[in-house]
Formats: sequence, structure tokens, C-alpha cells
Amino acid sequence: VIDCLFCRIAAGELNTHLAHQDEQVVAFADINPQAPTHLLIVPRLHIESAAHLSAADDGLWAHMLHTAQSLAGAASLDTAGYRLVVNTGDHGGQTVPHLHLHLLGGRAMGWPPG
Ligand code: AMP
Ligand code: ZN
Repeated sequence: VIDCLFCRIAAGELNTHLAHQDEQVVAFADINPQAPTHLLIVPRLHIESAAHLSAADDGLWAHMLHTAQSLAGAASLDTAGYRLVVNTGDHGGQTVPHLHLHLLGGRAMGWPPG
């Protein structure tokens, strides 16, 4: 999907620094960070949103979660805590139509989001 921003980042076309990469996912800093640590965990496979996941993607979804846990530990967020966010569709505030998991941490966050 050549005109998809996150497919292009995953393919290395934008020279984005990757905090993590493996066969299934890449992770990189959000360009507009909302917390001291704000990483995006992105599958290499183009899946539009969480609404488009099926049982066939269970392993990939689990790997996204485990990658987020690992990156949280590497950023020393696991004791203080952190937030994982998956904006889904228009009302969810999704702006990039390629599935991604936000990892936010480094400050206390309120609930609900504004
Ligand atoms: P969402 O609103 O959940 O779809 O999140 C998309 C996120 O991608 C936003 O937080 C943007 O700041 C971020 N973003 C957009 N373009 C880039 C980019 N080139 N590199 C890193 N993050 C980006
Ligand atoms: Zn894509």
C-alpha cells in the first residue's frame, strides 16, 4: 500500500528512526508527542484499524502488546505505569488509517481524555 504513511515508514522509505523492528512490527516515536515517552507500535502488515482485526491476526495483536510491554520496560515505565491507546475510526480520533498502538508514559494522565 504505497500511499500509506505507516506502510512507508515500516518499509524504511522515510528514514524514520525505529526504536524497535522485527519481522512483524516496527516502533518509532510519535512526531507530535503527547507525553515524555510517546511511541507507536505498528504492524508491517497493512490493517486499517482495530475494527479490521480478525482471529487470524491474534498472534500479531499479541505481539504488538508484548512489544509495547518490552518498550515500556526499556523506557523504565513499568513501575510508574503507562497508557496504551488504540484510536479506532472517526469517533475514536484515528487520523492514520493503518493500525497502531500508542505507548504513552512519563507523566500522570487523567481520565477520560479530552
Ligand atoms: P491516530 O490519531 O491514533 O491515528 O495517531 C496517529 C499518530 O501518528 C498521531 O499521534 C501523529 O502525531 C502520528 N504521526 C503522524 N505522522 C507521523 C510521522 N511521520 N512520524 C511519526 N508519527 C507520526
Ligand atoms: Zn499501511
